Amino acid sequence: MIELNPSGRQRDVLALIRERGTATRAEIQAATGLSASRVSRLTGELLSSGVIVIEERLPSGEGRPQEVLALAPRRHFVIGLDVGGLVQQVAITDLRGELLQVRSSRKALDGPRSDILDFLKELVDLVLDDTGVDAAGVLGLGVGLRAIVDPVTGIVSAGPEAPSWSPSWTNFAIRDELSALFPWKAIVVDDTVRASAVAERRMGSALGIDDFVFVLADTGIGAALMINGKPYIGPGHLAGEIGHVTIDPNGPMCGCGKRGCIEAYASSSALLLRSRQETGNTAMELEDLIVAGDSGCEPHRSILEAGGGIMGRGLAILFNLLSPRQIVLGGASSASTVYREAAMQVARQQTVGKVRDSVHIVPASGHPHTGVLGACSMVLDTLF
Ligand SMILES: [Zn+2]
Repeated sequence: MIELNPSGRQRDVLALIRERGTATRAEIQAATGLSASRVSRLTGELLSSGVIVIEERLPSGEGRPQEVLALAPRRHFVIGLDVGGLVQQVAITDLRGELLQVRSSRKALDGPRSDILDFLKELVDLVLDDTGVDAAGVLGLGVGLRAIVDPVTGIVSAGPEAPSWSPSWTNFAIRDELSALFPWKAIVVDDTVRASAVAERRMGSALGIDDFVFVLADTGIGAALMINGKPYIGPGHLAGEIGHVTIDPNGPMCGCGKRGCIEAYASSSALLLRSRQETGNTAMELEDLIVAGDSGCEPHRSILEAGGGIMGRGLAILFNLLSPRQIVLGGASSASTVYREAAMQVARQQTVGKVRDSVHIVPASGHPHTGVLGACSMVLDTLF
């Protein structure tokens, strides 16, 4: 069993190398303010523990290649899970975040807790077997859940995806259960929306941006408020439930038990429900709705436009309240051009004064593994 338990200063050095990809000892010295001898001692310790390696960086002009330090490739690993009520993904990456393998599965996780946990264990064992990675080389597990989850206590209060789902998911202390199941100390449990936001900042549409909001408009709607490069969760640990802001108290029922939430109009489930009701085609899938609506077919186009407009009201609230650098809009609903454009138009209309000039909405990266890679990244964030 590998124990990666870096001291405070070692963590600073590792975090710096991870953030930059590579760094010379002189760059580490300049960024941390530590003495040359201290940097030399710290990097020496990290080299001998095998967490970092020496590589060569070619100079931009003439001269000899430079000796730089980088995280060791394919020596230590982390595993990520993206767990929805019907679809799940599992991935394994090295400390650089390089993906070794990702696998998807479709299973209704509505049975007893023991079945849910057994299934998650099977998924983890599957990627270990497939890649031949020894569990002893794994440093931690990150789990993104499509549910209302408190990342500090590791307790799911409702979900996944709907409170009407199996009662097994209500007040489920899933992190404690996973800690009993796996040998790793670093086990992180969080909302998939926040995990996706972390991935968007590391490699997607918010690359290198510290202050932004990621909104996932999917079967549910949630937001991750990224402040100083980290998800803000608030003292109650549950910040970001933009989907349950009320638009009309007499509006359609929402999965949360209230009426007229943004989610009840603008989630992919709400769009699909409305189009099935209006067309009478109960077999219609979201993809059919988007293809028809985006090519101008009625009533599909109007349904997407109305849903996108309500999403835009939610985005305007976020811009007025937080003045973020940008909002990254992702999720199945936002795959529709009509929906996205309606959201942008309404967000601009409903922002105030100067805020309107800074309304900047970009589509999510569209990477098929954002949630699961974000879950891996969250574990690395806790390690260093
Ligand atoms: Zn609601």
